[in-house]
Amino acid sequence: MSPPAAKISPLPNYVEAVLPVPLRRSFTYRIPETMRGAIRLGARLKVPFGKRSLTGYAVELHADLPTDIEFDESKIKEIIEVSDDEPLITPEILKLTQWTADYYASFWGEMLKASLPAGINNEKVKPKRRKAVRLCRNAGALPRTPAEKTLTEQQQKIVDLLTANGGEMLFTDVIEQAATNASPINTLVKRGLLEIYVEDVMRDPLGKADFPALDDFTLTDDQQTALDQVTTAVAGDAFKAFLLHGVTGSGKTEVYIRAMRFALDAGRSAMMLVPEIALTPVFSRRLRAVFGSDVAILHSNLSTGERYDEWRRIRRGDARIAIGTRSAVFAPLENIGLVIVDEEHDPSYRQHESPFYNARDVAVMRASLAAAIVVLGSATPAMESFYNAQSGKYTYLNLPERIGGRGLAEANLIDMRKVFKIAGKDLALSPELIDAIRETFAKGEQVIILLNRRGFSQFVLCRTCGETMKCKNCDITLTFHRGTDNLVCHYCNYREKSPRACPHCESMYLYFVGEGTEKLEHILARFFPQMRIARVDRDTMAHKGEMENVLLKFASGGLDMLVGTQMIAKGHDFPNVTLVGVISVDISLGLPDLRSAERTFQLITQVAGRSGRGKKAGRVLIQTYYPEHYALRFAKEQDYDGFYKEEIKFRQRLGYPPFSVLASIMIKHRVHARAMQNASILRRSLDAANIAKHCRILGPAPASLARLKNEYRIQIILKGATRRALRETLQIALADAESQGCDMRVIYVEIDPVNLM
Ligand code: ADP
Ligand code: ZN
Ligand code: ZN
Repeated sequence: MSPPAAKISPLPNYVEAVLPVPLRRSFTYRIPETMRGAIRLGARLKVPFGKRSLTGYAVELHADLPTDIEFDESKIKEIIEVSDDEPLITPEILKLTQWTADYYASFWGEMLKASLPAGINNEKVKPKRRKAVRLCRNAGALPRTPAEKTLTEQQQKIVDLLTANGGEMLFTDVIEQAATNASPINTLVKRGLLEIYVEDVMRDPLGKADFPALDDFTLTDDQQTALDQVTTAVAGDAFKAFLLHGVTGSGKTEVYIRAMRFALDAGRSAMMLVPEIALTPVFSRRLRAVFGSDVAILHSNLSTGERYDEWRRIRRGDARIAIGTRSAVFAPLENIGLVIVDEEHDPSYRQHESPFYNARDVAVMRASLAAAIVVLGSATPAMESFYNAQSGKYTYLNLPERIGGRGLAEANLIDMRKVFKIAGKDLALSPELIDAIRETFAKGEQVIILLNRRGFSQFVLCRTCGETMKCKNCDITLTFHRGTDNLVCHYCNYREKSPRACPHCESMYLYFVGEGTEKLEHILARFFPQMRIARVDRDTMAHKGEMENVLLKFASGGLDMLVGTQMIAKGHDFPNVTLVGVISVDISLGLPDLRSAERTFQLITQVAGRSGRGKKAGRVLIQTYYPEHYALRFAKEQDYDGFYKEEIKFRQRLGYPPFSVLASIMIKHRVHARAMQNASILRRSLDAANIAKHCRILGPAPASLARLKNEYRIQIILKGATRRALRETLQIALADAESQGCDMRVIYVEIDPVNLM
């Protein structure tokens, strides 16, 4: 092309790419002549980076080099390849990920990568295709040469088979059913009688499951009022946020489903986030029954191929409702009208590794960017969300009663100190709970027992020298798993054969302390040999589909009791469960975390919500050594408002969120001195950046998990009066620390950390 023509050409010469690396900037590349027409915003690019090549994302196209930075034209590298004709990332997701990265002081490139289904950059994930054969329409009319007048017996068989099957079959089916091989088919193709074609097959995570019949009940007045407010807002085309506070079993799900139906009918798309959809197979099926192929499901228990296909169905606009766990908040839905976050308080919305984000908060921003409606739903709203509803930032919707006038399950605390006194030793199960299980079983009703700790024994102690068996990578005691006869670290998954003697003093007197779900299952099986019991935790549910099988079996009455970790506490609707037992609730109360009371309150309320959902009344028994703790007292009364009032006072007094914004900065290094050195540089930079004193800076100090996965962890906590003050201070400090020689690769910034460990 001649130079003058190039000038009027609208084609870009340069592209700004962000890369999935921990750097807060983008990189400029030249676009080779041949690729100028092909490149679009949001497309993936292969680019040279140092000695490597990386997959980046095109975030800006320029005709000329940007003028705000001095460029040495000769140093600018060319992109290697444009990986997508149709960009994977929509303009909306570009904007959303940029906002998210900025909000969480994180990296745009990492955020973009996290927004795509895992495995999409992996060449092994390909669309699934299959080969089929069909009869040519005019086959019969084709002139035949004398030599080919007749078909062989085998060929005739194939033609007959196809004719009997509507003229079209899978290639492999033809071969199997006609007991033949590819050769006669190919001959028929050459003769123009058949044709072979290839089609895309979508892998469906729900497969050929049975779908429940549709309920068609009349909404209660409270449900109707909530729904009306939401649908009016959806029709209104402006951003609005709702907090739907509804006790467990109050019919929130029904409101979500009808609101999504409304959005769909209004020509908009909708999204619903759930904490762990793999745990609610009944619910996925229900949605499929209501919305058919309009629903796509995204969660981590899908195979890579299934996830890729579901994602593609959304990207193509074939599925207009996306249901999924936290990363589904980035699903490429167009024209979104409604975003729902169910169980919005749930900690699993938080991504616990870089890039850190909370999908609940990203969901609110997504709705805001798209002028859509967001509904945050919960029986136990997060303190921050309820606070926002009180201050008018969110519109408050309330479903105060269970459907059908059913009462909430009656909850009782069992004081384990008294149990200890009477028995003279620690018991896993109080006599009261044992009796209750027996009675429930006798009535043909079902039981859920929750213990938030997996494994057999909590830890192993030597009675001779007093040492505990610790992980060699972490400051954590190892948990005994009897099934595998291993000691396992629940943080880094390090495991070793369980010892016969103490590794420190060779004493044989090893003492296995405390129980986990595995031991509890054994104890329960001994007490109740007639009951059919299944255990649900990460150890038993390691294989895809296992969780689903157990839950569906329990739902259909094929099991009498479930024992498990918090996996069984959430969201399930089993009408025949009338007893829930909580063993040792004190585990979650004892965590060094500002939210431990809130967490405990939520956990108990949620698990209590699994009891008595049907026509029969339910009850809940909670074993504890601290029955006077306010979180337990309010949870027993199922009094959210009471708990909120008490907890908000505590937060205000200590200046915790929502009265401040927190950031946890973790400095991790294998060498303690190196971690400390970087932490000191950062602390000085933070002090320098904080001259206006809008933030409080605590640390550096060893994190409560001081060593994890072979790395020392030093923590600095930043408390900002406002979000803005916090972000500005952080940004200035991080840039300064880098220029002072701080190794930024060892610094992990988490804004709004969910726990401070
Ligand atoms: P939540 O999500 O608030 O815990 P669900 O939506 O699961 O509650 O509702 C509890 C039960 O009540 C479910 O079995 C649901 O099918 C049923 N349900 C919901 N709304 C109604 C209604 N209006 N009439 C009758 N049953 C309902
Ligand atoms: Zn010992
Ligand atoms: Zn470990």
